[in-house]
Amino acid sequence: MESFDCVVVGGGMVGAASALALAHLGLQVAVVEKYVAEPFSSTQSHDLRVSAISLASQHLLTQLECWPQISQWRSCPYKRLGVWESENSYVEFDATEINTENLGHIIENRVIQLSLWQQMINHKSITLYCPDTLQSIEQFEEHSEVHLSKTTLLAKLIVGADGANSIVRSQAGIGITGWDYQQSAMLINVETVLLQQDITWQQFLPSGPVAFLPLSGQSEQGGYASLVWYDSKEKIKQLSSMSNKQLQQAVFEHFPKRLGAINVIDKAAFPLTRRHANQYQKHRVLLLGDAAHTINPLAGQGVNLGFKDVKALQTVIANAIANSENWYEPAILSRYEKARRADNLLMMTTMDALYASFSHPSSLVKVARNGAFMALNKLPFLNTTVKSKALAYACGL
Ligand SMILES: Cc1cc2nc3c(=O)[nH]c(=O)nc-3n(C[C@H](O)[C@H](O)[C@H](O)COP(=O)(O)OP(=O)(O)OC[C@H]3O[C@@H](n4cnc5c(N)ncnc54)[C@H](O)[C@@H]3O)c2cc1C
Repeated sequence: MESFDCVVVGGGMVGAASALALAHLGLQVAVVEKYVAEPFSSTQSHDLRVSAISLASQHLLTQLECWPQISQWRSCPYKRLGVWESENSYVEFDATEINTENLGHIIENRVIQLSLWQQMINHKSITLYCPDTLQSIEQFEEHSEVHLSKTTLLAKLIVGADGANSIVRSQAGIGITGWDYQQSAMLINVETVLLQQDITWQQFLPSGPVAFLPLSGQSEQGGYASLVWYDSKEKIKQLSSMSNKQLQQAVFEHFPKRLGAINVIDKAAFPLTRRHANQYQKHRVLLLGDAAHTINPLAGQGVNLGFKDVKALQTVIANAIANSENWYEPAILSRYEKARRADNLLMMTTMDALYASFSHPSSLVKVARNGAFMALNKLPFLNTTVKSKALAYACGL
C-alpha cells in the first residue's frame, strides 16, 4: 500500500487547487479522480459550465502558477456588473469604485481544471490516480485507508473534494442540512451579434432572474456569451425539450433587448440545491468546496467559496508546520472549520435572502426592492459606502 500525507478525493477545480496548495507546503499528496479530462484545444467550443472568478480566486490561481496558462487559453475579464428589476432601478457597479482593473473573469470550468492539472502533472510531490474511484474509507487511530476501485492508499489526512454528492462525506458519517430550490437553471451558450463585452448583467424577472456572462473570442457573427435562465422546474423542462431554433425565439422573447440578436450553440439544465455539511472535519477527514457546501448560483459564488476554503486550509497547515505541530491532528484541522464555516454560511444565507426577496409576489416587496436599487443610484453617501462594500465582498476582497 502506498502511503501519503494527504489523499485528495476529487480532482475538480477545488480538489486540484487544494492538492497543489498542500504540495507547495512540502506534503506528499495523492489525487483520486474518476474522469480523465479531454485536453484543451482552441478550436473546441466553449464549455457550458463557466464560472465568474473573483479577484480573490484569481490571486489563488496566480499563487498556484495557473493564471498565465488560463490567460493564454481562454478567459474574459469584466469591468462592470449591471443589476436591475425594472429599467428605472438599474444599478451598475464598476471596477473603478474599488480601484481595480476589473471585477473578475468569466472562465470555463474545464479551462480552470485543466490548468490546475497541468501544474499537478509536473509537481514531483503529487501522484495522480485517474481514472480511479473512491469506494470506501476506514479511519484508524494513527492513519486512514482509502479504498479505490484499483488499489488502496494510506493517508494521514483525507481531503473530500468530491462534489455535492460526496462519498467521503457519507463514509465519514458527516450529515448535511439542505433543500432543493423551487427553481432550476438553464445554461445556454450563444453567439452574439455584439462583440466581446466588458459587462456581466442580471435582470430579476417575476419568474426568476436572467443573466448574461460574456465569453472570450470573436465569432463569425460577433462574440460569444453564456446565458443563465432561472425559472420553475416545469418551464426549464419545457425549454430543454426545444430545438436550438425554438430556444432562440424563446430567449428573444424573454431576455432584455440589450442582449441583441443571438444564435444558440448549446444548452443544459441544472437543478438548484442547497447543502451544508454539519461538520467540515471529523477525525482526520476534511471537506472542501461543494462537498462541504452547495450554494444557490444566483451570484456565481460556488467555486469562489471553494477556493477560499483551499486558501484557509493552506494557511492553517502552513502555520502548524511552522510551529512544529502535528498538522493532521483534529485539533489543528478544526481551525480550518473555524476559519470557513461562518463565512460560507453568511454567503449562503445572503443568497437565500436575495432569492426569497426576488421570489416574493407581493407588490409592496417589489416597491421596496426597486426603491433600494434606486437609492443605490441616487444617494451619493450610499453610493460610495454600501456599493463599494458590497462590491468588495462579491469580489472576495
Ligand atoms: C448552474 C450553475 C452555475 C454556476 N455558476 C457558478 C459561477 O458563476 N461561479 C462560481 O463560483 N460557481 C458557480 N457554480 C458552482 C460551481 O460550479 C461549483 O461550486 C464548483 O464546480 C464546485 O467545485 P468542486 O471542485 O468542489 O466540485 P466538482 O466540480 O463537483 O468536482 C468534484 C470532482 O470529484 C470527482 N469525484 C466525485 N466522486 C468521486 C469518487 N467517488 N471518486 C473519484 N472522484 C470523484 C468528480 O468527477 C469531479 O471531478 C455554478 C453551479 C451551477 C449548478
